[in-house]
Amino acid sequence: MINESLSESLQEHVENILQEPSAILLDFARVTEVDDSGVQLLCKVLNRIQETGEDRVALSSVGNEISSKIKSSVSFSLPAFGSKAEAKSFLEKVNATRTVERLEATQYYKVTQFTQKGNIYYVNCPGCAVKLRIRSMGNHACPSCKARFHFKPDVAEPVTNPETHYEMLSLD
Ligand SMILES: [Zn+2]
Repeated sequence: MINESLSESLQEHVENILQEPSAILLDFARVTEVDDSGVQLLCKVLNRIQETGEDRVALSSVGNEISSKIKSSVSFSLPAFGSKAEAKSFLEKVNATRTVERLEATQYYKVTQFTQKGNIYYVNCPGCAVKLRIRSMGNHACPSCKARFHFKPDVAEPVTNPETHYEMLSLD
């Protein structure tokens, strides 16, 4: 049975999981029937998961009827497997690569805006907006707020020095 309080706790649980770079497996082994409101809830949850990244979710041990009900209600292609083991190995395989991409994307702000004097770049920290002087592209950490960012100018330029260099400028 999927009722109001289960609905809330399921959504809350999913929100917590989504904070982590993880995959979600919805196992239907003990589900024999899903009514319309259950399908609605599942779609809401599934769409929310999908918003945060592709290939994060799979269904397992799901019967044909329930499977097609759910699949026809979501707007993305949802992998469904006969067993938990199959679903798990699928998620592990896709997520090994996805997780790395996701971590890179979430932990490092992308900075493309800059001004340049000689071989020195001036960028604004994406975390605290302090002006930073940096000498190389790639990953940096703001000395003021510790925000990590990836500096890659919009223009094509050779990476001269892969090391991180930064200096703080005085605040106006
Ligand atoms: Zn900062």
